[in-house]
Parts: sequence; structure tokens; C-alpha cells
Amino acid sequence: MSIPKLTEFVADAMLGTLAKKLRILGFDCKYFASINDEEIAALAKADSRTIITKDKLLAQKCKKQDIRVIYLESHSEKEHLIKIARVCNLRYAVDASNARCTSCNGCLKKADRSIITLMPQLTHISQFWQCLDCKHIYWEGSHIRNLKKFISEVNVELQNKR
Ligand SMILES: [Zn+2]
Repeated sequence: MSIPKLTEFVADAMLGTLAKKLRILGFDCKYFASINDEEIAALAKADSRTIITKDKLLAQKCKKQDIRVIYLESHSEKEHLIKIARVCNLRYAVDASNARCTSCNGCLKKADRSIITLMPQLTHISQFWQCLDCKHIYWEGSHIRNLKKFISEVNVELQNKR
């Protein structure tokens, strides 16, 4: 029997924005906008992934099949991240060199700035990353600054409520 990899996830179809956040935070998190309970369970089993879900019934089914599952009861994304961190004993940090592609979960690599020659509005940006799989280009914009603020709030709560 393979040992479950605690920090590799598959998020249920309701958790798209949470999946994207986990990818930016550097976690391998599969996500499909439409996936049924049998498919997500099979995927978690085959890949030894932890399912993150808001679906109580799915969580119960997984537990019966010995599939590792984190059931998220709250409606707050901050609470979701706190629960995942507690269960898996994680720390969060927003670090572009660890991040994964938000659209396909692929790994990013640093890209040369010549990659954006067609986007003159980005000349003030100095660092770029590109997804090895879908080739999407990333840079640190305002959404990353907002995420850093959000994650620092999550980390404060993680420290406080132990
Ligand atoms: Zn990608």
C-alpha cells in the first residue's frame, strides 16, 4: 500500500478558487469544474491524493473507502486554508518560485523578459514565470499583493488558535 502524500490534493468542483490559491501557494492541487463522486474518489486513490470537499456525503463515502479527505464545513476561504494547514501540518508562503500554474496545475519556471516583448505595458515588471505545460505567463501583480496580505492573515490565525 502506498503512503498517502498529504500535500497533494484534489479539490471538488465547488472549490475552484481555493484550488487556485493552493496552486499559487505551491501545492499540487487537481481540480475539474465537473467531476462526479466516483471519478474524484478514483483519482484520489490512483494518485494517493487528499480530497478537499464541501460535500458531506462525498466525505463520508471517502472515509468508508479509506480515502484521505478533508471536509470543509465553513463558508470562509480563510477557514478552509486554516483547516487544511492544521490537518496536514502546513505553513503557507506566497513565493513565486514555488508556485504552480493556476489554470492547469503545471510547474512554473523563470522566464526571460523577452517573453513579453509584445506587452509594452509590462516594461516595469522585472520577473516573469511561465507554465511548463500550458505556457501561461505570470508576474507579480496586484492580485499577488492581495493574496500575500490574505495569507499573512491566515498565518496569524494559525499561530493564534493553536
Ligand atoms: Zn499551466
